[in-house]
Amino acid sequence: MNLILMGAPGAGKGTQAERIQARYGIPAVSTGEILRGAISAGTELGKTAKSFMDAGQLVPDEIVIGIIKEHLASDACKNGFILDGFPRSIPQAEALEALGVKIDVVLSIEVPDEKIVERMSGRRVCPKCGASYHTAYIPPKTADICDKCGNGLIIRPDDKPETVLNRLFTFHAQTEPLKVFYAERGLLRTVVGQEKVEDTTALVFAALEQA
Ligand code: ADP
Ligand code: ZN
Repeated sequence: MNLILMGAPGAGKGTQAERIQARYGIPAVSTGEILRGAISAGTELGKTAKSFMDAGQLVPDEIVIGIIKEHLASDACKNGFILDGFPRSIPQAEALEALGVKIDVVLSIEVPDEKIVERMSGRRVCPKCGASYHTAYIPPKTADICDKCGNGLIIRPDDKPETVLNRLFTFHAQTEPLKVFYAERGLLRTVVGQEKVEDTTALVFAALEQA
């Protein structure tokens, strides 16, 4: 299954991508994770990306399209993949089509803006393995420590309230039009993001399994 996960920043794409990956055995490719990896590695790509990310803007299309091209060509994606955070603009979606990548389902996780702002304030992430937590909704077993790798958890620099508002603005302006783009192609399915992660996961699996 070749899947695209869509949704506002903080809608829970990354968390649901982990659940889908575990159930279907297909890898999640997160452009946000890859870009954050480049930032911590201090590469040229990372330096370029950081200024856009810290401002809550999209990293230029050419850059993320290049990243995706490379990842989708890898062996790991041969039997399917989950795109988490790509495409995020119409030109990116067109580039994906131009690459001849066949998409089976585009799943949009819908969460109202007010909820997003509340969720982002509690988000904590593991800078080492990328796992994502929430102080109230998905707490780690030990406060501020990653369950998966034991590393300390951090607040993402782009989760500051001002940046969150910019990211929401960017989402509505550039990413949300993709819903129409994919609805026209008969690929769009939507689920409403629930308070509890497991409840959203159940809706996600049901949406993926519907014929
Ligand atoms: P979220 O979905 O919570 O905003 P991500 O980790 O997916 O978090 O993305 C973080 C940031 O990385 C975005 O705000 C943007 O600056 C950059 N980014 C990620 N994916 C893309 C993409 N496909 N195109 C452009 N920029 C991207
Ligand atoms: Zn970790």
